[in-house]
Amino acid sequence: MRRKTKLIHGGITGDEQTGAVSVPIYQVSTYKQDGVGQHKGYEYSRTGNPTRFALEELIKDIEGGHAGFAFASGMAAINSVLMMFKSGDHIIFTDDVYGGTYRLLSKVLNRFNIEVSFVDTSDVQNVKSAIQSNTKAVYVETPTNPLLKITDLQAVSELAQEHNLTFIVDNTFSTPYWQNPIDQGADIVLHSATKYLGGHSDVVAGLVVVNSQQLAEELHFVLNSSGAVLGPQDSWLLMRGIKTLGIRMEEIESNTREFVSFLQEHPEVSNIYYPGLESHGGHDVHAKQARGGGGMISFDVGSSENADKLLRNLRYFTLAESLGAVESLISVPAKMTHASIPKERRAELGITDGLVRVSIGLEDIEDLKEDFAQALRG
Ligand SMILES: *Cc1c(COP(=O)(O)O)cnc(C)c1O
Repeated sequence: MRRKTKLIHGGITGDEQTGAVSVPIYQVSTYKQDGVGQHKGYEYSRTGNPTRFALEELIKDIEGGHAGFAFASGMAAINSVLMMFKSGDHIIFTDDVYGGTYRLLSKVLNRFNIEVSFVDTSDVQNVKSAIQSNTKAVYVETPTNPLLKITDLQAVSELAQEHNLTFIVDNTFSTPYWQNPIDQGADIVLHSATKYLGGHSDVVAGLVVVNSQQLAEELHFVLNSSGAVLGPQDSWLLMRGIKTLGIRMEEIESNTREFVSFLQEHPEVSNIYYPGLESHGGHDVHAKQARGGGGMISFDVGSSENADKLLRNLRYFTLAESLGAVESLISVPAKMTHASIPKERRAELGITDGLVRVSIGLEDIEDLKEDFAQALRG
Protein backbone atom coordinates (compact mmCIF):
# COMPACT_ATOMS: atom_id res chain seq x y z
CA MET A 1 0.00 0.00 0.00
CA ARG A 2 1.40 3.40 -0.92
CA ARG A 3 1.41 6.34 1.46
CA LYS A 4 -1.76 8.24 0.57
CA THR A 5 -3.70 4.98 0.21
CA LYS A 6 -2.52 3.86 3.65
CA LEU A 7 -3.84 7.05 5.25
CA ILE A 8 -7.29 6.08 4.01
CA HIS A 9 -7.22 2.27 4.06
CA GLY A 10 -4.80 1.65 6.94
CA GLY A 11 -5.87 0.56 10.42
CA ILE A 12 -9.48 -0.50 10.82
CA THR A 13 -11.82 0.93 8.22
CA GLY A 14 -15.56 1.26 8.68
CA ASP A 15 -17.87 -1.00 10.66
CA GLU A 16 -18.43 -4.64 9.73
CA GLN A 17 -21.81 -4.94 11.42
CA THR A 18 -23.57 -2.07 9.67
CA GLY A 19 -21.38 -1.40 6.66
CA ALA A 20 -20.78 2.16 7.88
CA VAL A 21 -17.83 3.51 5.88
CA SER A 22 -16.50 5.62 8.74
CA VAL A 23 -15.57 4.02 12.08
CA PRO A 24 -18.45 4.68 14.53
CA ILE A 25 -17.90 6.80 17.62
CA TYR A 26 -18.24 4.33 20.49
CA GLN A 27 -19.30 6.79 23.17
CA VAL A 28 -19.17 4.20 25.91
CA SER A 29 -17.31 3.63 29.16
CA THR A 30 -17.99 -0.02 29.95
CA TYR A 31 -18.90 -3.28 28.16
CA LYS A 32 -21.27 -6.09 29.08
CA GLN A 33 -19.64 -9.38 30.02
CA ASP A 34 -21.40 -12.69 29.35
CA GLY A 35 -19.70 -14.20 32.38
CA VAL A 36 -16.89 -12.95 34.58
CA GLY A 37 -13.96 -12.18 32.28
CA GLN A 38 -15.96 -13.23 29.18
CA HIS A 39 -16.06 -10.24 26.84
CA LYS A 40 -15.52 -9.31 23.21
CA GLY A 41 -12.10 -7.69 23.73
CA TYR A 42 -13.27 -4.59 25.59
CA GLU A 43 -13.95 -4.24 29.31
CA TYR A 44 -13.58 -0.57 30.19
CA SER A 45 -12.72 2.37 27.92
CA ARG A 46 -9.63 3.55 29.78
CA THR A 47 -8.10 0.17 28.98
CA GLY A 48 -9.44 0.10 25.43
CA ASN A 49 -12.16 1.66 23.28
CA PRO A 50 -13.02 0.55 19.72
CA THR A 51 -12.88 4.05 18.19
CA ARG A 52 -9.57 4.78 19.91
CA PHE A 53 -8.30 1.36 18.86
CA ALA A 54 -9.09 2.10 15.20
CA LEU A 55 -7.00 5.27 15.47
CA GLU A 56 -4.20 3.39 17.24
CA GLU A 57 -4.13 0.79 14.46
CA LEU A 58 -4.04 3.56 11.86
CA ILE A 59 -1.07 5.42 13.36
CA LYS A 60 0.72 2.09 13.85
CA ASP A 61 0.28 1.33 10.14
CA ILE A 62 1.34 4.73 8.86
CA GLU A 63 4.44 4.89 11.08
CA GLY A 64 5.27 1.26 10.33
CA GLY A 65 5.57 0.10 13.95
CA HIS A 66 4.34 -2.71 16.18
CA ALA A 67 1.58 -0.95 18.16
CA GLY A 68 -0.01 2.49 18.48
CA PHE A 69 -1.43 4.39 21.47
CA ALA A 70 -3.63 7.49 21.65
CA PHE A 71 -3.36 10.01 24.48
CA ALA A 72 -5.27 13.08 25.61
CA SER A 73 -2.53 15.44 24.33
CA GLY A 74 0.98 15.43 22.99
CA MET A 75 2.27 16.19 26.48
CA ALA A 76 0.25 13.28 27.93
CA ALA A 77 1.90 11.05 25.33
CA ILE A 78 5.38 12.37 26.17
CA ASN A 79 4.75 12.11 29.91
CA SER A 80 3.51 8.53 29.57
CA VAL A 81 6.53 7.51 27.51
CA LEU A 82 8.80 9.06 30.15
CA MET A 83 6.94 7.20 32.91
CA MET A 84 8.34 4.00 31.45
CA PHE A 85 11.63 5.05 33.08
CA LYS A 86 12.45 5.16 36.77
CA SER A 87 14.12 7.31 39.37
CA GLY A 88 17.87 7.45 38.77
CA ASP A 89 17.62 6.84 35.02
CA HIS A 90 19.37 9.32 32.74
CA ILE A 91 17.97 10.44 29.37
CA ILE A 92 19.68 12.57 26.71
CA PHE A 93 17.50 15.20 25.00
CA THR A 94 17.81 17.48 21.99
CA ASP A 95 18.67 20.90 23.45
CA ASP A 96 16.00 22.97 21.67
CA VAL A 97 13.30 20.48 22.55
CA TYR A 98 9.65 21.64 22.55
CA GLY A 99 9.11 24.15 25.38
CA GLY A 100 6.46 22.05 27.11
CA THR A 101 8.73 19.02 27.11
CA TYR A 102 11.52 21.12 28.65
CA ARG A 103 9.11 22.33 31.33
CA LEU A 104 7.89 18.80 32.07
CA LEU A 105 11.47 17.64 32.51
CA SER A 106 12.84 20.59 34.44
CA LYS A 107 9.85 21.37 36.68
CA VAL A 108 7.89 18.12 37.11
CA LEU A 109 9.89 15.00 36.34
CA ASN A 110 12.92 16.44 38.17
CA ARG A 111 10.87 15.82 41.35
CA PHE A 112 11.06 12.12 40.56
CA ASN A 113 14.79 12.21 39.95
CA ILE A 114 14.68 11.50 36.22
CA GLU A 115 18.13 12.77 35.27
CA VAL A 116 18.44 14.62 31.95
CA SER A 117 21.10 16.14 29.71
CA PHE A 118 20.33 18.60 26.92
CA VAL A 119 22.76 18.44 24.02
CA ASP A 120 22.87 19.60 20.43
CA THR A 121 21.96 16.25 18.89
CA SER A 122 22.59 17.59 15.36
CA ASP A 123 26.17 16.47 16.08
CA VAL A 124 26.08 12.80 17.07
CA GLN A 125 29.41 13.22 18.92
CA ASN A 126 27.57 15.34 21.49
CA VAL A 127 25.17 12.46 22.13
CA LYS A 128 28.07 10.03 22.47
CA SER A 129 29.86 12.30 24.96
CA ALA A 130 26.72 12.63 27.09
CA ILE A 131 26.26 8.89 27.64
CA GLN A 132 26.70 7.89 31.31
CA SER A 133 26.51 4.54 33.07
CA ASN A 134 22.85 5.20 33.98
CA THR A 135 21.79 6.49 30.54
CA LYS A 136 18.69 4.64 29.38
CA ALA A 137 17.40 6.61 26.38
CA VAL A 138 18.00 9.27 23.75
CA TYR A 139 15.10 11.57 22.85
CA VAL A 140 15.33 13.56 19.66
CA GLU A 141 13.27 16.11 17.75
CA THR A 142 14.12 16.61 14.09
CA PRO A 143 13.46 19.20 12.73
CA THR A 144 13.43 21.12 16.00
CA ASN A 145 11.22 23.89 17.18
CA PRO A 146 11.75 26.73 16.24
CA LEU A 147 15.20 26.62 14.58
CA LEU A 148 14.54 23.54 12.45
CA LYS A 149 17.82 21.88 13.41
CA ILE A 150 18.31 18.39 12.00
CA THR A 151 19.53 15.26 13.75
CA ASP A 152 20.80 12.24 11.83
CA LEU A 153 18.35 9.52 12.90
CA GLN A 154 20.39 6.65 11.53
CA ALA A 155 23.57 7.79 13.29
CA VAL A 156 21.82 8.24 16.65
CA SER A 157 20.06 4.91 16.22
CA GLU A 158 23.36 3.09 15.70
CA LEU A 159 24.81 4.75 18.79
CA ALA A 160 21.68 3.91 20.80
CA GLN A 161 21.84 0.29 19.73
CA GLU A 162 25.49 0.04 20.64
CA HIS A 163 24.79 1.32 24.17
CA ASN A 164 21.46 -0.41 24.62
CA LEU A 165 19.48 2.85 24.82
CA THR A 166 15.85 3.32 23.87
CA PHE A 167 15.69 5.72 20.94
CA ILE A 168 12.67 8.06 21.06
CA VAL A 169 11.74 10.53 18.31
CA ASP A 170 9.18 13.34 18.45
CA ASN A 171 8.02 13.31 14.80
CA THR A 172 5.45 16.11 15.11
CA PHE A 173 7.11 18.52 12.67
CA SER A 174 7.72 16.12 9.79
CA THR A 175 4.64 13.93 10.21
CA PRO A 176 4.65 10.26 9.13
CA TYR A 177 3.88 11.45 5.61
CA TRP A 178 7.42 12.83 5.22
CA GLN A 179 9.45 10.90 7.79
CA ASN A 180 9.21 7.47 9.46
CA PRO A 181 11.79 7.27 12.25
CA ILE A 182 11.11 3.58 12.96
CA ASP A 183 12.49 2.80 9.49
CA GLN A 184 15.65 4.64 10.58
CA GLY A 185 15.99 2.60 13.76
CA ALA A 186 13.86 4.46 16.33
CA ASP A 187 12.17 2.40 19.06
CA ILE A 188 9.42 4.88 19.94
CA VAL A 189 7.89 7.62 17.78
CA LEU A 190 5.54 10.17 19.24
CA HIS A 191 3.39 13.00 17.97
CA SER A 192 1.48 15.97 19.11
CA ALA A 193 -1.44 14.98 16.88
CA THR A 194 -2.89 18.40 17.72
CA LYS A 195 -0.74 19.69 14.86
CA TYR A 196 -0.56 18.25 11.31
CA LEU A 197 -2.23 14.90 12.01
CA GLY A 198 -5.45 16.54 13.21
CA GLY A 199 -4.69 19.46 10.93
CA HIS A 200 -7.74 21.65 11.54
CA SER A 201 -7.05 23.36 14.89
CA ASP A 202 -9.95 21.51 16.45
CA VAL A 203 -8.54 18.67 18.53
CA VAL A 204 -5.81 18.21 21.16
CA ALA A 205 -4.27 14.73 21.08
CA GLY A 206 -1.06 12.72 21.30
CA LEU A 207 -0.05 9.53 19.51
CA VAL A 208 2.75 7.05 20.16
CA VAL A 209 4.02 4.14 18.07
CA VAL A 210 6.42 1.56 19.49
CA ASN A 211 8.40 -1.02 17.54
CA SER A 212 8.25 -4.07 19.81
CA GLN A 213 5.82 -6.19 21.82
CA GLN A 214 7.76 -5.50 25.02
CA LEU A 215 7.53 -1.71 24.60
CA ALA A 216 3.85 -2.09 23.66
CA GLU A 217 3.11 -3.94 26.90
CA GLU A 218 5.09 -1.48 29.01
CA LEU A 219 3.45 1.57 27.46
CA HIS A 220 -0.05 0.10 27.62
CA PHE A 221 0.58 -0.61 31.29
CA VAL A 222 1.42 3.08 31.87
CA LEU A 223 -1.51 4.23 29.72
CA ASN A 224 -3.97 2.05 31.58
CA SER A 225 -2.48 2.85 34.99
CA SER A 226 -2.22 6.62 34.60
CA GLY A 227 -5.23 7.02 32.31
CA ALA A 228 -4.46 10.02 30.05
CA VAL A 229 -6.37 8.42 27.16
CA LEU A 230 -7.99 10.09 24.16
CA GLY A 231 -11.80 10.09 24.08
CA PRO A 232 -13.82 8.51 21.27
CA GLN A 233 -15.02 11.80 19.72
CA ASP A 234 -11.49 13.14 19.45
CA SER A 235 -10.21 9.79 18.18
CA TRP A 236 -12.77 9.97 15.37
CA LEU A 237 -11.90 13.59 14.52
CA LEU A 238 -8.25 12.65 14.35
CA MET A 239 -8.94 9.76 11.96
CA ARG A 240 -10.87 12.17 9.78
CA GLY A 241 -7.94 14.58 9.78
CA ILE A 242 -5.40 11.86 8.98
CA LYS A 243 -7.28 10.81 5.82
CA THR A 244 -6.27 14.10 4.15
CA LEU A 245 -2.76 14.31 5.63
CA GLY A 246 -1.07 13.42 2.32
CA ILE A 247 -2.87 15.92 0.19
CA ARG A 248 -2.48 18.62 2.85
CA MET A 249 1.26 18.01 3.25
CA GLU A 250 1.85 18.09 -0.52
CA GLU A 251 0.05 21.41 -0.85
CA ILE A 252 1.68 22.86 2.28
CA GLU A 253 5.08 21.82 0.90
CA SER A 254 4.58 23.66 -2.35
CA ASN A 255 3.21 26.77 -0.60
CA THR A 256 6.12 26.73 1.84
CA ARG A 257 8.78 26.49 -0.85
CA GLU A 258 7.26 29.44 -2.65
CA PHE A 259 7.00 31.44 0.56
CA VAL A 260 10.67 30.74 1.38
CA SER A 261 11.71 32.07 -2.08
CA PHE A 262 9.66 35.17 -1.39
CA LEU A 263 11.32 35.66 2.04
CA GLN A 264 14.78 35.31 0.49
CA GLU A 265 14.01 38.34 -1.68
CA HIS A 266 12.64 40.43 1.18
CA PRO A 267 15.15 43.07 2.44
CA GLU A 268 13.91 43.05 6.05
CA VAL A 269 14.17 39.29 6.48
CA SER A 270 17.37 37.50 7.50
CA ASN A 271 18.41 34.09 8.84
CA ILE A 272 15.79 31.93 7.20
CA TYR A 273 15.62 28.52 8.84
CA TYR A 274 14.06 25.89 6.57
CA PRO A 275 15.47 22.37 6.10
CA GLY A 276 14.35 22.35 2.45
CA LEU A 277 16.88 25.13 1.71
CA GLU A 278 20.23 23.91 0.44
CA SER A 279 21.95 26.56 2.56
CA HIS A 280 20.43 25.05 5.73
CA GLY A 281 23.09 23.27 7.78
CA GLY A 282 21.01 20.11 8.10
CA HIS A 283 19.74 20.01 4.53
CA ASP A 284 21.65 16.92 3.37
CA VAL A 285 20.85 14.84 6.44
CA HIS A 286 17.21 15.88 6.27
CA ALA A 287 17.02 15.01 2.56
CA LYS A 288 18.44 11.56 3.37
CA GLN A 289 15.84 10.73 6.03
CA ALA A 290 12.73 12.73 5.06
CA ARG A 291 10.76 13.08 1.85
CA GLY A 292 9.75 16.72 2.31
CA GLY A 293 10.88 19.92 4.02
CA GLY A 294 7.58 20.45 5.85
CA GLY A 295 5.60 23.61 6.42
CA MET A 296 7.52 25.31 9.23
CA ILE A 297 9.81 28.29 8.64
CA SER A 298 11.56 30.54 11.15
CA PHE A 299 13.29 33.79 10.25
CA ASP A 300 14.49 37.01 11.79
CA VAL A 301 12.73 40.30 11.15
CA GLY A 302 15.44 42.21 13.01
CA SER A 303 13.71 43.39 16.16
CA SER A 304 10.89 42.88 18.56
CA GLU A 305 9.31 46.10 17.10
CA ASN A 306 9.28 44.65 13.59
CA ALA A 307 7.78 41.43 14.88
CA ASP A 308 5.06 43.46 16.64
CA LYS A 309 4.34 45.43 13.45
CA LEU A 310 3.98 42.21 11.52
CA LEU A 311 1.59 40.73 14.06
CA ARG A 312 -0.51 43.92 14.12
CA ASN A 313 -0.94 44.13 10.35
CA LEU A 314 -1.24 40.55 9.09
CA ARG A 315 -4.66 39.49 7.86
CA TYR A 316 -4.27 35.84 6.87
CA PHE A 317 -1.66 34.65 9.35
CA THR A 318 -3.36 33.96 12.65
CA LEU A 319 -1.33 34.84 15.73
CA ALA A 320 -1.49 31.65 17.75
CA GLU A 321 0.55 28.99 19.47
CA SER A 322 0.39 25.67 17.65
CA LEU A 323 1.15 24.76 14.05
CA GLY A 324 0.24 22.37 11.29
CA ALA A 325 -3.25 23.62 10.54
CA VAL A 326 -5.18 24.47 7.37
CA GLU A 327 -4.86 28.15 8.30
CA SER A 328 -1.43 29.78 8.33
CA LEU A 329 -0.26 30.56 11.84
CA ILE A 330 2.43 32.88 13.13
CA SER A 331 4.16 33.07 16.49
CA VAL A 332 7.03 34.81 18.20
CA PRO A 333 8.83 31.97 20.02
CA ALA A 334 10.63 34.20 22.56
CA LYS A 335 7.31 35.53 23.85
CA MET A 336 5.12 32.49 23.28
CA THR A 337 6.09 28.83 22.82
CA HIS A 338 9.52 29.36 24.36
CA ALA A 339 8.60 31.89 27.05
CA SER A 340 8.96 29.12 29.65
CA ILE A 341 12.65 28.82 28.71
CA PRO A 342 14.82 31.32 30.66
CA LYS A 343 16.06 34.31 28.61
CA GLU A 344 19.76 33.39 28.96
CA ARG A 345 19.00 29.89 27.71
CA ARG A 346 17.01 31.33 24.75
CA ALA A 347 19.98 33.53 23.79
CA GLU A 348 22.26 30.48 23.91
CA LEU A 349 19.92 28.67 21.53
CA GLY A 350 19.63 31.61 19.08
CA ILE A 351 15.99 32.38 19.80
CA THR A 352 16.15 36.17 19.36
CA ASP A 353 13.33 38.66 20.07
CA GLY A 354 12.93 39.27 16.30
CA LEU A 355 12.62 35.59 15.48
CA VAL A 356 9.28 34.80 13.91
CA ARG A 357 7.94 31.32 13.22
CA VAL A 358 5.29 30.59 10.63
CA SER A 359 3.31 27.48 9.90
CA ILE A 360 2.22 27.68 6.29
CA GLY A 361 -1.38 26.65 5.60
CA LEU A 362 -3.54 25.95 2.60
CA GLU A 363 -4.49 29.48 1.54
CA ASP A 364 -3.60 30.76 -1.94
CA ILE A 365 0.11 31.46 -1.79
CA GLU A 366 -0.27 34.80 -3.61
CA ASP A 367 -2.54 36.00 -0.78
CA LEU A 368 0.01 34.93 1.84
CA LYS A 369 2.85 36.72 0.08
CA GLU A 370 0.86 39.93 -0.50
CA ASP A 371 -0.33 39.89 3.09
CA PHE A 372 3.17 39.51 4.47
CA ALA A 373 4.60 42.25 2.25
CA GLN A 374 1.91 44.77 3.24
CA ALA A 375 2.22 43.90 6.94
CA LEU A 376 5.96 44.57 7.02
CA ARG A 377 5.53 47.85 5.13
CA GLY A 378 3.18 48.79 7.99
C1 LIG B 1 2.79 20.90 20.42
C2 LIG B 1 3.95 20.01 20.58
C3 LIG B 1 4.02 19.10 21.65
C4 LIG B 1 2.97 19.05 22.75
O1 LIG B 1 1.75 18.59 22.25
P1 LIG B 1 0.31 19.02 22.85
O2 LIG B 1 -0.63 18.31 21.94
O3 LIG B 1 0.23 20.51 22.76
O4 LIG B 1 0.25 18.55 24.24
C5 LIG B 1 5.12 18.26 21.70
N1 LIG B 1 6.09 18.30 20.77
C6 LIG B 1 6.05 19.16 19.74
C7 LIG B 1 7.16 19.16 18.75
C8 LIG B 1 4.99 20.04 19.61
O5 LIG B 1 4.96 20.91 18.59
